[in-house]
Amino acid sequence: MDWEVVIGLEIHTQLATRSKIFSAASTTYGAAPNTQACAVDLGLPGVLPVLNGQAVRMAVRFGLAIDAEIARRSVFARKNYFYPDLPKGYQISQYELPVVGRGRVEIALDDGTTRTIGVTRAHLEEDAGKSLHEDFQGMTGIDLNRAGTPLLEIVSEPDMRSAREAVAYARKIHQIVRYIGISDGNMQEGSFRMDVNISIRHPGETRLGTRTELKNLNSFRFLERAVLYEVERQIDVVESGGAVVQETRLYDPDRDETRSMRSKEEANDYRYFPDPDLLPLVIDDDLIEAVRTELPELPDARRSRFQSEHGLSEYDAGVLTASRELADYFETVAEACGDAKLAANWVSGELAAALNKAGLDITASPVAAPDLGGLLKRILDNTISGKIAKQVFEAMWTGEGDADAVIEARGLKQITDTGAIEKIVDEVIAANPGQVEQYRGGKAKLFGFFVGQVMKATQGKANPQQVNALLKKKLG
Ligand code: ADP
Ligand code: MG
Repeated sequence: MDWEVVIGLEIHTQLATRSKIFSAASTTYGAAPNTQACAVDLGLPGVLPVLNGQAVRMAVRFGLAIDAEIARRSVFARKNYFYPDLPKGYQISQYELPVVGRGRVEIALDDGTTRTIGVTRAHLEEDAGKSLHEDFQGMTGIDLNRAGTPLLEIVSEPDMRSAREAVAYARKIHQIVRYIGISDGNMQEGSFRMDVNISIRHPGETRLGTRTELKNLNSFRFLERAVLYEVERQIDVVESGGAVVQETRLYDPDRDETRSMRSKEEANDYRYFPDPDLLPLVIDDDLIEAVRTELPELPDARRSRFQSEHGLSEYDAGVLTASRELADYFETVAEACGDAKLAANWVSGELAAALNKAGLDITASPVAAPDLGGLLKRILDNTISGKIAKQVFEAMWTGEGDADAVIEARGLKQITDTGAIEKIVDEVIAANPGQVEQYRGGKAKLFGFFVGQVMKATQGKANPQQVNALLKKKLG
């Protein structure tokens, strides 16, 4: 039977403010447990929350980045539930009136086409504390440092039709929040957590099928595997005569399967009501326009510009705009050397491989962008060949100085003196009469042998074009 897969995502992204959403407590990650939750975060009697203006501006920035409606008036509500990591008994969130309304993002598919995915809403809320099950024998530890940390929950339309589309969408949101600087997107630290809702239906059917929800996925790989597993499970259930039950399930990456957590019958009744301690959030045009001027160039726009302005292929432009830091690095190299294509090749080739091998992010590159640009300039002005440049790059990587210093210290300057090269070519020809005869007798592939000999004699420093031309002339 044919099945259509329907997927919607809820993404919690932690906003990169210095203090909490309703208090002045710090949001720094990794502090000793329970040292960063204040009376407001704990909801102790007699305290009042004060909304963090920076968190609001970040939410608006996101709304503008996805071309969404920004609500002129939105409301904070209490979502009531009991859990050990939520001692005040409610989470402040937005319910009926979120700050960001309908928007959209474009995702690129494997076949080169794009699809638009709708964003239903994005709302501000506070995070809860954290239960720690691993460090304690027979007990659970509670760390309330995270309580009150600002989150933006981004809810999509059920617009995705495969695991790959779900991943492409999640990656796109991740890329956007990092580009616009509202979140570090660090998945290990829980700054970007995904809940995925999945259902199946027959193609052509307009009603949605019953969905299950998989909570708290913290990697794109787990997201993809969880969806693939869950789709198969639902198909098996339906095709063997059963029905999908609406429930929350947990994905277990160790076993690569999903398990039921709670069904709809046990679902919480959150008794939402407007928080009486907080006024409605009113946003005026001035604020929206001020935030608009802070927006950087967005990834899609930057990718097209890299194609039109720098002449890069769509693929290269995509790779080099993956993060804002990488795109900035590339543009600095391109500007420093004046050849965007050469810069693109080196940044996505030699440099990316070295970073990958060392497990480093572009921001931690031992070779700074202007220095890489300086190296490429020496290829372009024929001081060194591309091959020698790789040697120079390695030396720069290990801290031997900039390109000119390495070329000088190691004596790598290319030999472009035709007379000098000609002399070596003559010596090589004289020393290998047998090969010369075979070559002239039609064994054309021996040409590489002669090039190799000349390069060997010059430690790779002879200008390759000149070597080729001279050998052709003398052997021909
Ligand atoms: P809830 O209030 O339980 O969180 P929502 O209606 O807000 O439910 O939907 C949450 C997410 O689930 C949204 O991303 C939405 O697109 C998605 N979703 C809703 N119904 C379905 C369905 N039948 N199949 C797949 N995804 C769905
Ligand atoms: Mg939900």
